[in-house]
Amino acid sequence: MGKFLKDVKKQIKKSGEKGGIKKELLKKLLSPERFLEFTIPLNEKYLHAYRCQHSSILGPYKGGIRFCKHVDREEVEALSILMTLKCALIDIPFGGGKGGVAVDFQKLSGELLEKLAKEYVRGLFPIIGPDVDIPAPDINTNEDIISLMEEEYSKIARKHSPASFTGKKIEKGGVAGRVEATGYGGFSVLEELCVKERLETPSVAVQGFGNVGSNFVKFALENNYRITAISNEEGGVESKEGFSAETIFKDCSFLKKGKKINNEDLLEKDVDILVLAAVERVITKKNAPKIKAKYIINLANGPVTRKAEKILQEKGIIVVPDVLANAGGVAASYCEWVQSKEGIKYSKEDVFQFIAAKLKKSFCELFSKDEKYPKESFLLSEKAVLLALSRLEKKFLETEKFN
Ligand code: GLU
Repeated sequence: MGKFLKDVKKQIKKSGEKGGIKKELLKKLLSPERFLEFTIPLNEKYLHAYRCQHSSILGPYKGGIRFCKHVDREEVEALSILMTLKCALIDIPFGGGKGGVAVDFQKLSGELLEKLAKEYVRGLFPIIGPDVDIPAPDINTNEDIISLMEEEYSKIARKHSPASFTGKKIEKGGVAGRVEATGYGGFSVLEELCVKERLETPSVAVQGFGNVGSNFVKFALENNYRITAISNEEGGVESKEGFSAETIFKDCSFLKKGKKINNEDLLEKDVDILVLAAVERVITKKNAPKIKAKYIINLANGPVTRKAEKILQEKGIIVVPDVLANAGGVAASYCEWVQSKEGIKYSKEDVFQFIAAKLKKSFCELFSKDEKYPKESFLLSEKAVLLALSRLEKKFLETEKFN
């Protein structure tokens, strides 16, 4: 088993056992309820496609679809487990799912991309639906692709089914603010952290400048935060006094706008807050001892390994778990799903308010003094997992009575 899935499963098993969660539930959560794997013929190749339906204890399966070269069965399963935990932690009535296709996205023409999106929906059709499994965007699947998928679903179902997908274009029933939602959620967490720790003008370094990282930076700069370093897979830049929104977002790439640094340099910068918005496993036990930031916000999924987090926590560094920091996207998806089901319309303010309220509540729960999970014996990520597991356990025990 690869390291990512192993780490995620260990998180459930170890934290759950340590926190006294029912063994039956832990056993159930260590295997997905259903896993669909199929092939899609495209341009003389057979692509591997997946959908993992991890848990429906709290509601219909929910989670994104990624089109990436490295997608495989294990990655999809690991990410679906994180979705189950994320929805439980922020208390929205969804279960966890995830999907993907292993494809070299950069090489896809517009026409092939459209064909792939439709074929993926045809393969998935028998097991998804507005009350069963509601897919959403993830890496390389934007609102156009999701809108196309929803259209294809509705066509096969012979029924207009806008609640079958979230992350659609606004004119196709999407909700305002969905595109920026994950970045906005990360920003809300930054605000909570600064209030809690009484940080006035903290320096912030951001790794990753995709949809999530760039929107996080946008909100942070609009609110006068000092962003002193940014990087993406091609490299990074720094500015001691902090970048302005004009420099970062106008004209050419931000990589031409400051002193050059590389990705690893960014991780080890002497900043107050380090925001990880790129990929999984960027801080491991190898580089953890070299980290100088006082706070880390995990905006990507699984960017800090368990062993690394232990080292960081021992050094006094606070690591805000991914299941909290990046939950803004699925919180907005919940608004979109309700909107599509009820035929109502939410404004961007409604959606952002919902995200901020949900994340603030979970943030306070996570950082409150808790005799059950003392700071000395539990990593913050363990506590987050336990708060999620407790919610799952409550529902699991209620429904078990009917079995
Ligand atoms: N892909 C996003 C995530 O990982 C969104 C999932 C959703 O909205 O269902 O949280």
